[in-house]
Amino acid sequence: SGGDGEGTVYKVGIDTTYPPFEYEENGEYHGIDIDLFTAIAENQGFEFEFDAMDFGGIIPAMEAGQLDVAIAGMSITDERKKVVDFSDPYFDAGITLVVNKDNDDIESVEDLEGKTVAVKNGTTGAKFAMDNADKYGYEIVQFDDSPAMFQEVSNGNADALLEDYPVIAYAIAQDNLDLKIVGDRLNGDQYGIAVIKGENQDLLEKINAGLQELRDSGEYDKIVNKYLGE
Ligand code: GLN
Repeated sequence: SGGDGEGTVYKVGIDTTYPPFEYEENGEYHGIDIDLFTAIAENQGFEFEFDAMDFGGIIPAMEAGQLDVAIAGMSITDERKKVVDFSDPYFDAGITLVVNKDNDDIESVEDLEGKTVAVKNGTTGAKFAMDNADKYGYEIVQFDDSPAMFQEVSNGNADALLEDYPVIAYAIAQDNLDLKIVGDRLNGDQYGIAVIKGENQDLLEKINAGLQELRDSGEYDKIVNKYLGE
């Protein structure tokens, strides 16, 4: 990114605790979301800069006018559609239940009675946990970022966590965490790129056009395979 003095430089919110979608390494941002947004902007000819923050701060920052756009492994939900407009979906995710790899008692959300469930502030996982806490009878403990939440279950302080399937599968494979995924995905969440509701319609059109061109050209698959392909 970085402007040449012409036109708008869009501020793009990201969550750099979220590999393989977004992470920081040696002072640089990497991941599917990073490469995808960069390619869309190049394809459509607009300028931007990334602004990393806790996921739970992204939508509030958009509402406050501090961000124009967000790409943050953000799931498209009806609740969020009240405050942001989403691009076409660009990735199938879905929440899954995760426990310590030595835990054989919890096989589904129905086994969570009296247990502690770790979630990340502002996420669809946190919302799922809150919506179902009375039904299944567990306590919730909240974290600001995914690695802190993973540690809590890895070290046995909490019994389970909720995270998006592609993110936790990648973390388990990469980081040797003492965690395992149990059961099927709990929903069919899809990721979208968000802009402030009712504003930036031009930008949203460019994002959708760029996304489609990258899919048609095979560039989208290249980006995903760079991080997830074997
Ligand atoms: N996909 C989840 C959500 O939208 C989590 C995103 C994240 O933690 N970056 O709430």
